[in-house]
Formats: sequence, structure tokens, C-alpha cells
Amino acid sequence: MSEILIKNAHTILTMDETRRELAGADLLIRGGVIVAVGHDLTTAGQVVDAAGCVVTPGLVNTHHHLYQSLTRAVPGGQDALLFGWLQTLYPIWSRFGPEEMYISAQIGLSELALSGCTLSSDHLYLYPNGSRLDDTIAAASELGLRFHPTRGAMSIGESDGGLPPDSLVEQETAILEDSIRVIDAFHDPSEGSMCRVGLAPCSPFSVSRELMRDAAILARDKGVMLHTHLAENEEDIAYSLANFGCRPGQYAEDLGWTGSDVWHAHCVKLDGQEIDLFARSKTGVAHCPCSNCRLGSGIAPVRAMRDAGVPVGLGVDGSASNDSGNLISEARQSMLLQRVANGADAMSAREALEIATRGGADVLNRPDCGRLEVGKRADVAMWDVTGIDSAGSWDPAALLLAGPTRVKHLFVEGRQVVNAGQIATIDLPRVIERQTQLAQALQS
Ligand SMILES: [Zn+2]
Repeated sequence: MSEILIKNAHTILTMDETRRELAGADLLIRGGVIVAVGHDLTTAGQVVDAAGCVVTPGLVNTHHHLYQSLTRAVPGGQDALLFGWLQTLYPIWSRFGPEEMYISAQIGLSELALSGCTLSSDHLYLYPNGSRLDDTIAAASELGLRFHPTRGAMSIGESDGGLPPDSLVEQETAILEDSIRVIDAFHDPSEGSMCRVGLAPCSPFSVSRELMRDAAILARDKGVMLHTHLAENEEDIAYSLANFGCRPGQYAEDLGWTGSDVWHAHCVKLDGQEIDLFARSKTGVAHCPCSNCRLGSGIAPVRAMRDAGVPVGLGVDGSASNDSGNLISEARQSMLLQRVANGADAMSAREALEIATRGGADVLNRPDCGRLEVGKRADVAMWDVTGIDSAGSWDPAALLLAGPTRVKHLFVEGRQVVNAGQIATIDLPRVIERQTQLAQALQS
């Protein structure tokens, strides 16, 4: 079985149980798994020089809408609040098809890989013009990222009092049938899995109570995870109170949407009782700080969630509300926002990096990822700290306080996806060219 030795790293930040940080250390990979971490390791296989590099676990992205990388910085959506922003973008998204889904996923996932991400989830909740979840799964497979796509859905269109146009919603029976199809075709529950499918009705304001409940029953029957948007901003809370007569946490609990197999995006407006509920039930949260800033949603109570024991991971969210997709920058933003809310000692750079790695892996029920330990998957990010971003840094291990914000090398399951700062697995310049053509066509 082929071996790769990452040799003589400046520092290895293991994110293991005791958060060991090893100076001048090596990491040995065999067949996609970490087999040794320590000093003076040797191999007859490939040696990767890690001198001047901080080595971390690959970062984990727990919330994204990859298709949105085709609608960054759309003028009508630049300064709108959540609901107005959605209403600007829905008509554009309704023109997408399979190629738009495939190309935008390759762009979004490549952007993540270059910023240190090795495992990403995706929330695809609209399927216009023959689009399928399969389109994004193909993109991730070619790039070589570990992927947790979720079969999202919207079923309440404008004519039924919902937000999305009728052309973007689906029949609930068709949603459930396609959910079963994609789970049976792509979900791999095994350790080291490169693809796990989840179920993810878009949000409580775009599907019925029945679909939320049926999705939870189906997910448990199939052993897959559940994901949706929850308690994103004040409008979201007001909608829940007006339409369901309760806060989002109560709504989620009533429909079976709490537990260690569930994670919710945003949760900016969770109150103390809801944080207790999430902590008790081990319900996960995908914290998306840049998107929350961009849409003016507020500052999620991450400090309180972590202190209570809620599993928290990071998400860049879709590129229409970020509009970037840089995961290490997202980690920095999460640290800064908690400091805005709670003071400079509210979150350290190391804690933010922990949330971005093992924190996200735990939210996605991937204890085999997110840490550099013997027996864990070989998902490894290497950061060159000899460049301008880090020059003069007294503590290169505090990566988020200075830089860099792009990896030098990236390995997923022992396969090199980024080499010397460039995507190694697909022809990225060609994909960027095609993405640009597609974006121009959508503007005409
Ligand atoms: Zn989202």
C-alpha cells in the first residue's frame, strides 16, 4: 500500500484529544489513513517536504449552497435582508440546469479546497430544468473532496403563501421519492466514506410541517442525517411565532428535528432554552459568521452554545450571501465576531481552528475526520508560514491571527488535491472560464 510521509513540519497542530502541537514533526499516511505522527519517521514511499509549513487537519465545512457561486454579488441582492434577498435571486436560480449545478459545485469546492477544506456538506434545495443532486456529487468526486450532499427541497410556493416562486417548488411525494433514490445510489455509511447523503428541506418557511416530519422519519429509517436552516434572523423568529405559534426550537423538537443526527444552519437567534435543548439532545449547529454579517442577521451565541455543550461547526454558506467561500477566513471571522459580542478573551485563534476542524467533523458525525491521529483519515492541510502573511509572526500556530489564507498542499484520504497552491485534480482554469460564460448568459 502506498505511503506518503509529510516530513519535518514547522508545527503539526493535531487537534487530537489533548490538542498536541508537535514542532519539527512528521506525519505518515498509508492508504488514506494516518499511521504515525511523531519525530524521525521514515518511508520507502513519497516524501513531502513540510519545512516552513504548519500542518493542520483538513477543515470541515458544514453549510453551503454550492450552486450559488454562479450568483455572487448580484446587484439587486447586495444590500437586501434575507427574505428580500431570496426574492431577488429565486428568478435567476430558476434558470439553472445540470451544467450550472455541476460547474458551480466545482468552483465552490475548489475554492474551499484552496482554503484548507477537505470535507464539505452541501445543501441543494432547488432542482430546476432537470438538475439533480447527482450533478454536484460528480463534481466533488472528480475534485476529490470528501462530500456530504443533502437532498434539500422546497414545496410551498407563492400561490400557497410561501416565499419561492411556484416554478422552484416540488411535489412532496416527488421529493421523498428522489430522496430515497439518492440515498440508495450514493450514501456510504462506512468509516472513511467519501460520500454521505443527508435530507434537508430548505427551511420551515418553504416546506410544510408534514414534509419536515416525513423527512425526519425517512432519515431515521435510512440512517442518514437531517439538516435545515433555523432561527436565522428576527424575521425568521417572527414567521415561526405567527405561523406555528412557537419558537423555532420548539417547532424543530415537535417534528423530530433534534438529536445527534441533526444539524441546523445559523441559529443566530436561539434563546437560552433552545441552547439547553440543543445541548441536551446533541443537536449540531453550522455557524456561518460571514453570511450572518453580510445579511445583517446578527451574532450567533457561539460562546454560550460551546459552553453549554452544543456541537458547533463552521459553514461558509452559499456564495450569494458571503460572497466568498474561504473557510480559514470564515474561522477568523467566527473568532472576531465572538470578541465583538463578548470581549477579546471570548474565543482564541486555537479554539476557532478547533471548531473549523474537529468541531465540524463532530457535527457531521465524522469522528474519523478532523484530527491528525493514528487511525484517522488522512485529510491534511499544509500552510506555508514563510510568506508575507506570516512574516514576523511569533506564533505561527495561531494561524487565524495572521495568515496565510490559502494552503500550499492539501490531501484528502491520502490523495493530493492541492499541490504548490494549485488544484491538482481538475483543470480549474477551464472551469473558471466556463463559470464566467454561464454567469454572463444568466445576465442576458
Ligand atoms: Zn444557507
